[in-house]
Amino acid sequence: MLPESLGGLAAMAGLLGLCVGSFLNVVIHRLPKMMEQEWHAQCADLRGEEPPTEPSLSLAKPRSRCPACGHGITALENIPVLSFLLLKGKCSGCGIAISPRYPIIEIFTGLISAYTAWHFGPTIQTAGALLLVWSLIALSAIDLDTQLLPDAITLPILWLGLAFNLANVYSDLSSAVLGAMAGYLALWTVFWLFKLVTGKEGMGYGDFKLLAALGAWLGWQMLPAIILLSSVVGAVVGITLIVVARHGRNVPIPFGPYLAAAGTIALFWGPQMTRNYLGLIA
Ligand SMILES: [Zn+2]
Repeated sequence: MLPESLGGLAAMAGLLGLCVGSFLNVVIHRLPKMMEQEWHAQCADLRGEEPPTEPSLSLAKPRSRCPACGHGITALENIPVLSFLLLKGKCSGCGIAISPRYPIIEIFTGLISAYTAWHFGPTIQTAGALLLVWSLIALSAIDLDTQLLPDAITLPILWLGLAFNLANVYSDLSSAVLGAMAGYLALWTVFWLFKLVTGKEGMGYGDFKLLAALGAWLGWQMLPAIILLSSVVGAVVGITLIVVARHGRNVPIPFGPYLAAAGTIALFWGPQMTRNYLGLIA
C-alpha cells in the first residue's frame, strides 16, 4: 500500500463525508420532527380522533426550506460548505443568517471520514466504521437538541455491529453479543440505582441502547473504557457548564454525545489502549 493511494482514499472519504454531513443535517433536523408527528398521530388514534392532517414529513420530502421565509433550497445552494460560503451564511430569499452548525457538521463529518479511511485503510473495517461514526454524529446532535436518541438509529446500528462481527471485523461474535447485553444492563442498572436513591431519572433508555450498540461493535472488553471516558468527560463538561455558564444543576445534560465520543475513541484506539493497560498489569 503506497502512502499516496492511502492519501487518495482518505481524500475520497473526506469528500464523501462532506456530502454525508449535508444529509446528516437533514436527519438531525427532521428525524425528531418525524417522531413527533408519529406520536401525535398515535395519540389521536388512542383518543379515537382523526389523525392530524399536516403534510407528512420524510427524510426525502419535502425539499429543505428556509425555516424563516420558506424559500426552497436549490441544488446550487445545497453544496456542502461551499454554498454556505457563497451565500455568506445568509438565506438568498430573506437574508436571515443560516446557522453555522450546518457547515460545521459537514466539515466535521468530512474530516472524521477522511481520518477513518486513513486509519483503517482499504478494508471492510473502513466501510463499517464510516457507517458507525456517521450514525454517532447524528445521534449526538439530536441528543443535544432534543434529549432523545432515536431507536430509528440506535437499534439498526446495534444489529449492524453484530452483523459485521459475524465475520470478526471488529471483535469476535461472542464478545460482541456479550457487549450488547452488558452495555444495556450496565446503564440500566445505574439508571435504577440512581432512581431508587434520588427519585430522579439521570439518563434515558436511549443511552442504554447506544452503549449496547457500542458493545455490539467493539466487544464487551471495550465497555469499561467507554464508560470511564464518557463519565470523566461528561463530569468535566457538566461541572464547567454549571460553574461558568451557570447552567442550572437540574437542567438535564445529555449523555449521548459523551458515549458517542468515547465510542469513537475506542473504535480507533481501543485495541491499543487495552494492550497498554494489560501491559501495565502484567
Ligand atoms: Zn429565508
